[in-house]
Amino acid sequence: MRFIFLIISFFIFTLNSSFALDVVYPSSKEFTVNAASIYFYGNTNPKSMLRINSESVKLFDDGVFVQVVPLFYGANDITVESVHNGKVERQVFKITRNKPIAEKTLPLSYVPRNKNYFLYTKTINARSTVREKPSKSSKRVIELPKGVVLYLAGQKGDFYKIEENGKTEFWIHKSNIEEPVIVSKRFQAKIKQPENESDKFYNYTKIALSYPVMYTVEQEGKKLILTLYGVKDSNNNTNNSGNLEFVFEDDNQVLGYDGLYEEDKFILRRAKVADKINPYAPLHKVRIYIDAGHGGSEKGAIGPTRVPEKDINLAISKKLIHLLKYKGAIVSYSRMDDSKVNLYDRVDKAKENNAFISLSIHNNSLPPNKNPFITHGCEVYYYNDNAKVLAYIIKNNLSKDLKIKDNGLYKSSYALNRSTNPISVLVEVAYMVNPDEYKKLRSNKFQTEVAKSIAKSLEQFMILLKK
Ligand SMILES: [Zn+2]
Repeated sequence: MRFIFLIISFFIFTLNSSFALDVVYPSSKEFTVNAASIYFYGNTNPKSMLRINSESVKLFDDGVFVQVVPLFYGANDITVESVHNGKVERQVFKITRNKPIAEKTLPLSYVPRNKNYFLYTKTINARSTVREKPSKSSKRVIELPKGVVLYLAGQKGDFYKIEENGKTEFWIHKSNIEEPVIVSKRFQAKIKQPENESDKFYNYTKIALSYPVMYTVEQEGKKLILTLYGVKDSNNNTNNSGNLEFVFEDDNQVLGYDGLYEEDKFILRRAKVADKINPYAPLHKVRIYIDAGHGGSEKGAIGPTRVPEKDINLAISKKLIHLLKYKGAIVSYSRMDDSKVNLYDRVDKAKENNAFISLSIHNNSLPPNKNPFITHGCEVYYYNDNAKVLAYIIKNNLSKDLKIKDNGLYKSSYALNRSTNPISVLVEVAYMVNPDEYKKLRSNKFQTEVAKSIAKSLEQFMILLKK
């Protein structure tokens, strides 16, 4: 018996002492950064005294601490000490702050194609991204499917410039195309008269082409403008620019839309809203897709007591899914458990389910050189104009209903809000690295309030669409 008692007390003692000071970030003891400050966060025994470099640090609920520590140029020794019952836990960090080194890279020059020949190629990926400039960080123009015929005007680094121009230049990375071949003649695709069709979910305009070409679809207010590049209208010989524009104005508002190729046809698909929206049950039969961010080995942000963002995203999403179903919506989702889902599988699943609206639920973190007491609150991200109103409603309601800081509406491109179909919005409910918000996010009641607020926003959005 005594032996067992000893073993038990040994475990209790070691557990206590090993959990006395848990620094979640920085996660390594020695590293180099180019930042004027860095924030430390983690947890310790709530009854202890915490000091970072002799300065006492405020402890929040559950012994959570978040502290911004200034850095000097060169070596910084930073000591984190937790004192409890006369015992001291100490961790030392060696952080070096370097002066930023200006990157010296030779500017690449643009090499135009030989004037006597043309450069012919085809896209090879299901998402062959066309950009405005020859850089991976440049703005995306469109994601072309596999098999689109392109003529190239020249090369800069790993990017090729496409002969066609819209409002901007079009560039494509070499990994998205077949090895270009030299041809002596440039053809233009022949097109036939567009045909219109529709079903329960969409209006379709189908345009037969002799081969798939580059296209763009742009929203201008209530209008959608489709441009097909390098084409020739077989009924109209006067068109020589090679670009053909089609304007669509189906409704009083642009809803989800996308372009796709099906055999020899280009199809522009536009989502339809139900004819009658019941103001007392505006979500009835509305198809909504909910994506709980991250999952499985992708934990997302880690909170000061090591609760991962993926768990909070899932808890909120489950409550939201439940509530939306209760309100009569037809709900689909990326995950209902802790499984890992690939980013583009999440996007595809929304389309496969013919979702009218897609919401991706996340919680935020910050780069280590920022201050979590200054930057926090809810943020909502949209990318396409057709999602702006919904994003605005969600953000306003969240900050008011939950009494958290309104940290803004942003037009920013992520996989889960880039798609023009469905109407796609990404929500960052609050910050995992702000102690008050982290505490709220873990509470069942708060998670329910988040779900209620988002459901209310979806209802308000649907009522706006009522004819
Ligand atoms: Zn996230």
